[in-house]
Amino acid sequence: MAKIKFPFTLGVASGEPAPDGVILWTRLAPDPLNGGGMPKSAFDVRWELAEDDTFLKLTASGTTRAQPAGAHSVHVKVSGLRSSSVYFYRFRVEGHTSRVGRTKTAPAPTSTAPLRIAVASCQRYEHGHFTAYKHLAAENPDVILHLGDYIYEYGKPADPALGRYVRPLKDSAAACSTLAAYRERYALYRLDPDLQAAHAAAPWLTIPDDHEVVNNYGKTVDLKRRKAAYQANYEHLPYRVKPGADAMQFSRWRPLGKVVDLLLADVRQYRTPGDMLGPAQTTWLLDRLKGSTARWTVLAQPLFFAPRNPPSTDSWDAYPASRSKILQAAPDSFVVLSGDVHNAWAAELDRGVEFVATAITSAPPAVRDDALERNPHLGFFDGHRGYLVANASMDEFTVDYRTVAYVDRPGAPVSTAASFRAVGNKLERIDL
Ligand code: FE
Ligand code: CA
Repeated sequence: MAKIKFPFTLGVASGEPAPDGVILWTRLAPDPLNGGGMPKSAFDVRWELAEDDTFLKLTASGTTRAQPAGAHSVHVKVSGLRSSSVYFYRFRVEGHTSRVGRTKTAPAPTSTAPLRIAVASCQRYEHGHFTAYKHLAAENPDVILHLGDYIYEYGKPADPALGRYVRPLKDSAAACSTLAAYRERYALYRLDPDLQAAHAAAPWLTIPDDHEVVNNYGKTVDLKRRKAAYQANYEHLPYRVKPGADAMQFSRWRPLGKVVDLLLADVRQYRTPGDMLGPAQTTWLLDRLKGSTARWTVLAQPLFFAPRNPPSTDSWDAYPASRSKILQAAPDSFVVLSGDVHNAWAAELDRGVEFVATAITSAPPAVRDDALERNPHLGFFDGHRGYLVANASMDEFTVDYRTVAYVDRPGAPVSTAASFRAVGNKLERIDL
C-alpha cells in the first residue's frame, strides 16, 4: 500500500443540513498546490460521527472511496440522525486522522426552535485576510450561507502596478479555465486557517455567483470552462447533489422547521436577456413561494435584489420582470439575503425586506455620497468587510451586520455596525 503524507491539508466541512442528516466532506491532498499529490488510485476513507468530540461512542461510521477522477474528494451522505442536534465528525486514511468538524442537523418540520444563520460572500484571496471567518466561526450559527464568489478566477496581472495585493497569487497564475487550474485555486483558498475554521464550525449551504466560473457570465459562457468550474466547485464543497453532464443543480429548497423556508436560487446558469432564472427555475421558485407556510420565507441568492438608482446592469435591475414575478408570489413575511456588491446594505421591498451581506475580503466599488438619499427604500449602508448574522424565530427576524476594521493584515477585531428587525416590508433599526 502506497504511503502518503498527511492528506487532510484542506480541512473538513459539512453541509446541506436535513432533519435526519448532513453531508460530510473532505479531500485528500498532501500537496494541494501541485495537483493534490495523491497517487492515481482510489483510497478508502473512514468517517466517524459522534455526539461529542472524544469519539468514544460513535453514532455512525463507515468507509467511502476517494477517487482520482473527483480529486480524491469525498461527500458522505449521513442519515438516521436526530433533528436540531450537534454532531462531531472526522476522517481517517492510511494512519492519518483529520481535524474534528462540528455540524448540526436541521430542525424537524414541526419545530419552532429559533435559528441562527450566518451569511458570507465575496472572498477574493488577493484582497485580504479571511479574519471575518475566524469571528464567524465563533458565532455558533446553525447554518452558514455562502452567496457566491467563493473563489475569484482572475490571474495575476502582468502589470506589477496592478499587482499590489495583500496576498498576491503566484507569478505564473493565469485566469482559471481548466479543471486543474480551478482545483488549485480552491486549494489555495482552502489552505486558509480561518476559512477552514468556519467550515469546521457549522454546516454550509453555498450558491455560486459569477467568479466561480468567470466574471459576469450568463447562459452564453464557454460550456467546457463552466463544466470544469462546476466540477471543481463540487469537489471542494459539501453538496448533496453531483454535477450532471452539462449542468449542476444549485437551486434548492431547504426547510428549517416552521420558522424558515429557505430557497436558494441560481442567477447565472439559466439567465437569458430579460429572464434572470430561466423558465423551469422560475416556475419552481414561484410555486415554492406561493406554497410557503413557514413563519419566514427566505430567498437566498447572490445579487442585490432591490431596485437601485442609478440601476445596475449585472443585477436584478436588468431583470425587472423576473423581480416583480417573485415579489407578487412572495408571502408577506419575505426576506431576501444577498451579497455580490462588497458593501453592506438593507432595503425595503414592495413585499418584505432585503439584507445584503458585505464581502469577506473583496474590495468594494466607489459608492456615491448621496446613495441613501437617492434611494429612500435603502435603509442602511456600511463600507466595511465582514458578514451578517440573521436570527429567526416565530416572533421576529433580526439581522446583525458584523464588520472587521481591516483585512490588509491579520487580527482585526469584529464589531456590530448595526442591527435591524424585519417588520413586514419595513426595516426597524435596533438600538445597540
Ligand atoms: Fe464579488
Ligand atoms: Ca459577483
